[in-house]
Amino acid sequence: MTVRSLILPTLLLSFSTVGSVFATEQTVPDESPGITQQGGDTYAFKIGDVRVIALSDGTVPQDLHKILQGTTNEKIDEQLTYAYQSNPIETSLGAFLFEMGDSLVLVDAGAGNMFGPGFGGKLLDSLHAARYDAKDVTDILITHAHSDHIGGLTRDGQIVFANARVHVGKPDIDFFLDRGNAEKTGYEKLFFDQAIQILAPYVEAGKINRIDETTEILPGVTASLHPGHTPGSAFYTLKSQGQTLTFVGDIVHAEAVQFPSPSVTIVYDVDSKMAANVRSKAFSNFANDRDVVAAPHMPFPGVGHIRKAQKGYDWVPVNYGNREVKKSE
Ligand SMILES: [Zn+2]
Repeated sequence: MTVRSLILPTLLLSFSTVGSVFATEQTVPDESPGITQQGGDTYAFKIGDVRVIALSDGTVPQDLHKILQGTTNEKIDEQLTYAYQSNPIETSLGAFLFEMGDSLVLVDAGAGNMFGPGFGGKLLDSLHAARYDAKDVTDILITHAHSDHIGGLTRDGQIVFANARVHVGKPDIDFFLDRGNAEKTGYEKLFFDQAIQILAPYVEAGKINRIDETTEILPGVTASLHPGHTPGSAFYTLKSQGQTLTFVGDIVHAEAVQFPSPSVTIVYDVDSKMAANVRSKAFSNFANDRDVVAAPHMPFPGVGHIRKAQKGYDWVPVNYGNREVKKSE
């Protein structure tokens, strides 16, 4: 069975002559897991006194030749070779969790079953592996309303996180919940259909908080809007005891290409020029401030620093820790 007919809808863009962005026919994994098959996966680290947990939702293959813009296939291949990767690349779908007072906060909700069996949808396994349950989540911070970030919010039209309030950029709600914008802008209609399907139960239940300006949405957590990739793309900045972590959403999709060349954009951008500007500014700011960044499409756990390089920037993953940390440390 090919996946082309039934899954990875966000990847099957009809932009220009893209057709399927897959380089090869993919098959649904058989019952014996492939060598890169993991179960739920978690990685915990501290920002000040807040314990943050990266949660894997799985990975999906991406054909960079078909989805990147403002570069050439030769240049992409050269940059992938330099990074010991090759096209198509395997891209992480990530989410993050942290506990603060009485709040249990999830950042993005993964793809759910939007990509079909075998691709994404591991968020709840990862959440359970971290010893939490969907009903424990009180707040969900959505970086933007694409299906690989909101897909896990509902399953078969039902709310998955029954006790959570969903925070999302108002411009994304206004844009994606109005199908008329597909015709007005020429942006892929599927994204609108998916957002409506996924978010409708939360909208009807009055569980959406629409963010329209820089706001402290929880003590120590500030939301800010950075339109480009989508009109309501948001960063969420967590500060604790002098340390700062920013959840940046999709300012970067292809590490090996967009760090050395931040001007390279992706077909999923609603406004690619603005998206490139957001990326360049963010890379520069994070490199200067030395703050920690959490980026859902960086290789799991997707947490690291951005460093100025001779040409463009480098992604520096966080150092690995795996022991008990005493309160005094
Ligand atoms: Zn994404």
